[in-house]
Amino acid sequence: MSGTTEPTRQAGWIWKNTYADLPSIFHESTPPRPVARPEQVVFNGKLATSLGLDPAALETPEQTAVFAGNQVPEGTQPLAQAYAGHQFGHFTGLGDGRAVLLGEHTAPDCRLWDIQLKGSGRTRFSRGGDGRAALGPMLREYLISEAMAALGIPTSRSLAVAATGEHVMRDEPKPGAVLTRVAASHIRVGTFQWAAAHQDTAALRALMEYTAKRHFPEIDPEDARAFFIAAMNRQIELVVDWMRVGFIHGVMNTDNMALSGETIDYGPCAFMDAYDPDTVFSSIDHGGRYAYANQPSIARWNLARLAEALLPLFDEDRASAADFANENLGNYEAAFQKQWLAMMRTKTGLLNEEDGDAALIQEFLDGMRAAGADFTRTFRILATTDAADEPPFDDGPLRDWHPRRVERLSRQPHSLEEARHAMCAANPAVIPRNHRVEAALADAEAGDTTAFHELLEALSSPYDDPGDNNPLALPPPPGTPKCVTFCGT
Ligand code: AMP
Ligand code: MG
Repeated sequence: MSGTTEPTRQAGWIWKNTYADLPSIFHESTPPRPVARPEQVVFNGKLATSLGLDPAALETPEQTAVFAGNQVPEGTQPLAQAYAGHQFGHFTGLGDGRAVLLGEHTAPDCRLWDIQLKGSGRTRFSRGGDGRAALGPMLREYLISEAMAALGIPTSRSLAVAATGEHVMRDEPKPGAVLTRVAASHIRVGTFQWAAAHQDTAALRALMEYTAKRHFPEIDPEDARAFFIAAMNRQIELVVDWMRVGFIHGVMNTDNMALSGETIDYGPCAFMDAYDPDTVFSSIDHGGRYAYANQPSIARWNLARLAEALLPLFDEDRASAADFANENLGNYEAAFQKQWLAMMRTKTGLLNEEDGDAALIQEFLDGMRAAGADFTRTFRILATTDAADEPPFDDGPLRDWHPRRVERLSRQPHSLEEARHAMCAANPAVIPRNHRVEAALADAEAGDTTAFHELLEALSSPYDDPGDNNPLALPPPPGTPKCVTFCGT
């Protein structure tokens, strides 16, 4: 990437400011606002090392001051990114209201990583908000984003959480914090919508070429059509991965969909326990717009908004530009279905293809729903045991299904060991269960991070055998209240 500044090094940081070189409609120079008493709460040494940073040099008071926004590292040009977005279907101008991008760090493999401070104070885009974040939600993002990374799912990462020594007003005063987020970029569908709303085709083109160079090096960066197809394929892969582990993003607004294909903006997200495709956790998602089973069609809806924004770059002739968009959006469902089925086959141990597989898998899902069976544990039982004598296969709606699966497996040339091996790699044993996450965060907010670190450690190898009846791998006890998640935290 080209940058106007020479890289600057300190603690291993190699800063560039390539986003700052984009046209001015995309950013507003904004420093992080200092806080009262920066204190490190959690720091990700492994991530730091993989980024070519020096962990020891990052665990100093000077670097805690950087992670809290009290010191701006030499060589950075902090900015708030401007973007628009459809929030629950309604278009609006947004932008970083409580975050600043310090710049991009160059990792040893020469890839650029956005280093963003979240909760760093008010910006031009803060509207009525205070620009701040509470400790609990920032630790929640840290925990779940790191769990997603360990699950092998593209995601923004979390490098550090610094307490601010200040309170933020939510429903009651809460301890404040700043999260240092690392991402392939923070370019969103909404960033393209922002350029389109300005009817600034030159800026739109600059953004597309910049994004293509950062995320799709395999295509010609000037080819908007190849760009759209590549972006669409990335989203399909991502959402198939979410469906695989029962992840519900919760707020798939177009400003929360990253062109990189990473999961970003961990707000009201949560993992499903009992399988129910209508599962929603967010307190404000009354219509179930972002329910588990709706995620594929919402991703398509968001991609349609991306296509709308890109129309002037597809073709000068609007009719042929629209034809291109419609044709490719028309391919989405079949492409998604194909990848989803391949993923579900692996989850159930079907290593070759038969015509009846889709129906067999659907009957399994329907049976799980009818039985109120736990999504993660049921697949894991299938992967690691003979299953027939284990709940939920020993009784109820899945009792008749299981022998048919055994018969189906007997028709494939692969051994049971091969099937189990593939299944164990696709079916995690440990996920961030809501009841565990909530308990760990409550302790951490009260100053005890023991449970938080235990959970983080268990989530770092989610596909390994956690040992018999490891409590961190078990579903919530019966009667556990349903988790409710919140935006605006
Ligand atoms: P989100 O739901 O996290 O994607 O946020 C939607 C928009 O609200 C983004 O523009 C955020 O920057 C902004 N926002 C969220 N919380 C705050 C806050 N406490 N202060 C200012 N802006 C905020
Ligand atoms: Mg957002």
